[in-house]
Amino acid sequence: MKHNHTNYHSHCDFCDGRGKMEDFVKAAIAAGMTAYGVTSHTTFPMPPVKSLQPHTYPLYFNEFARLKALYGTKIELYVGLEIDYLDSNRNPRMPFYATLPTDYTIGGVHFVANEQGRWMCTDGAFERFSENAHQLFSGDIRHIVELFYEQSRRLVQCGHFDIHAHPDKIALNASQFEPTILQEPWYEQLAYNHIRSLAGGDFLVEVNTKALEQHGRIFPGEEWLPLVRQLGLKLVVNSDCHDVDKVESGRYETLQILRQSGIKTVWELHDGRWSEQEIRI
Ligand SMILES: [Zn+2]
Ligand SMILES: [Zn+2]
Repeated sequence: MKHNHTNYHSHCDFCDGRGKMEDFVKAAIAAGMTAYGVTSHTTFPMPPVKSLQPHTYPLYFNEFARLKALYGTKIELYVGLEIDYLDSNRNPRMPFYATLPTDYTIGGVHFVANEQGRWMCTDGAFERFSENAHQLFSGDIRHIVELFYEQSRRLVQCGHFDIHAHPDKIALNASQFEPTILQEPWYEQLAYNHIRSLAGGDFLVEVNTKALEQHGRIFPGEEWLPLVRQLGLKLVVNSDCHDVDKVESGRYETLQILRQSGIKTVWELHDGRWSEQEIRI
């Protein structure tokens, strides 16, 4: 068996992924992966980005069940959801999610709201981020970043998820908006406080490789790995793929980066149980 050849965070055309769930599963099998998890986004607060809708949840889980029956001997398949923390009513604690047949859930922050209650996506294409930052926040990037980490703090307090997605994801768009932002003491303090708060949590912490190929950045960023190691966070490496040809994008390089940072293990789900596995790449 190939070691560390897993991904538990992926999208498809039930949400904003570009391709059918089946094509992602086939790509994971073709890549020789041993375990793969499908985790579409739960309902977003605003269009136009596609996410699961009340009537598509059953279709999503039915399609997963069909694929598991079809390909389950070739690869371990799991199904989850990437659940946003939006506000005190819409978050991973919602009783609705507990009624769904998930193997695990991912908790993440992708939206912040301005004082008029208008949502802005902090993720995705920089052009849209920049436009929204100007239109909805008068270009006040510090305020947007502060809101992102405040939402992230609330997510951790809320709990009811198994994996914390991409802890400092805002770093990518924020640093394109203002290139020196990640070195600002106030930014460093916010990111530090958040990563520090993950210690002892009842969840795994994702190392997200989605942007490594294109932007040279993992989440949490490499600069935080000494702290991550010191805190002994339980890490799971995920590609968060939205494209069929990216099911394992950045995985190998990220495992090497972790090893170079003195991190020797990651967590993997096999036979329905999470366990600590040595990085052998
Ligand atoms: Zn995400
Ligand atoms: Zn995702």
